[in-house]
Amino acid sequence: MSQASYDPNNIFAKILRGELPSHKIYEDDDTFAFMDIMPRGDGHCLVIPKKPARNIFDVEDDSLAAVARTTRKLAKAAVEAFSADGVMIQQFNEQAGGQVVFHLHVHILPRFEGIALKPHTGQMADQAVLAEQAEKIKAVLAAQA
Ligand code: 5GP
Repeated sequence: MSQASYDPNNIFAKILRGELPSHKIYEDDDTFAFMDIMPRGDGHCLVIPKKPARNIFDVEDDSLAAVARTTRKLAKAAVEAFSADGVMIQQFNEQAGGQVVFHLHVHILPRFEGIALKPHTGQMADQAVLAEQAEKIKAVLAAQA
């Protein structure tokens, strides 16, 4: 498999630099978390490392560990915020592995008994709904702090 290099103009790099907006949920020295703009369910959010990394193949160990820590923190908060029954964690690598945005990211998808994920429609969610959902998760994080 050939591994392309990191493109600093990918969408998530632009979000990290503040060049594109996002519904931010959490940030620390090494990671950033925000709502997925085309959610496949309530509370669908993403965790990314601040250090440039295309995917699992080039991410530095410390950066990956930081992403894992934030993923667990956000997964617990999202489950509580939406009273979910479980959570799905997904991470895709290269086009054949389902990756579309080439800055490493982990999907956090709260899951509910008997409710299927929405299909990938390519439709952006209502911004007000995303903002409200981000606030719900942030409120749980704030209560833990
Ligand atoms: P993947 O690369 O893991 O297959 O998918 C990328 C994910 O990023 C998709 O779930 C998509 O909805 C999300 N996404 C794509 N563009 C944007 C964007 O501009 N902002 C946000 N918040 N999410 C995005």
